[in-house]
Parts: sequence; C-alpha cells; structure tokens
Amino acid sequence: METRSLDVSLTGFGCTPTRAQVIVETLNLRARLTRAGIVLGAGLAVALIALPIPLVHFVLVPAGLLIGIVLAGMRVSQREIFSSAEGVCPYCGTHRRLGVAGRVFRLPRKVFCSNCQRALELGED
Ligand SMILES: [Zn+2]
Repeated sequence: METRSLDVSLTGFGCTPTRAQVIVETLNLRARLTRAGIVLGAGLAVALIALPIPLVHFVLVPAGLLIGIVLAGMRVSQREIFSSAEGVCPYCGTHRRLGVAGRVFRLPRKVFCSNCQRALELGED
C-alpha cells in the first residue's frame, strides 16, 4: 500500500482557516478485497447469530446479509482512504485527530472537533 501526505486547509464558519495534515492510503486490489471481506464477514456473523432466534430471524438474517453485501460492494470500489488526519481546530486552537481514519478519501469533507464539537471542513488547497 502506498501513502501520500497532504497539507490541506481546515476551516470553520467565521474564523481564520488553519492547516491540517492528511495521510492518504492508496489501496491495491488485495487490500480492497480484504476490507470488503471483513464487512461481509460481519454481516454474515449477524445473520448466523440471529438464525436460531424465533421471529427476529425473519428480519435480521436477510438484513445482515444484505447490509454485508452492500457495504462490501462499496468498500471494493474505495481506492483511497484517509490513513490519518490531524490539525489545529480554528475555533478552540487545540491540536486534534479529526476522526476520519479508514473512511473514503474525498475533499472537501465535513469533520468535527472532538474538543469543542463544532463542525469543520477539510478543504482542498
Ligand atoms: Zn475545537
């Protein structure tokens, strides 16, 4: 897996933008299939756990399988994910991890400061 690091802006409504450091991971086919397999396995596990439970199995077994398949399909198509993102919050000034690790890489992206709970935007420049 390859990684690249970016320096992007972190903006909040009505305050001076700060900088954030983002590490993006490019996933090869094997990594994408592994990530898809994990979520498919979780859906299958939910279905198997619900199987012996009366009435519940009518809903949870097909829902677990369907959600597992749909999420696996989405993960196969994700070529780049955030490995990490951190920066200084423009509102409260604390250096924070931005909680996007493992999510699909796309800019701009809404994030939240874990200290002051305000909405921020990871920008593109
Ligand atoms: Zn903050």
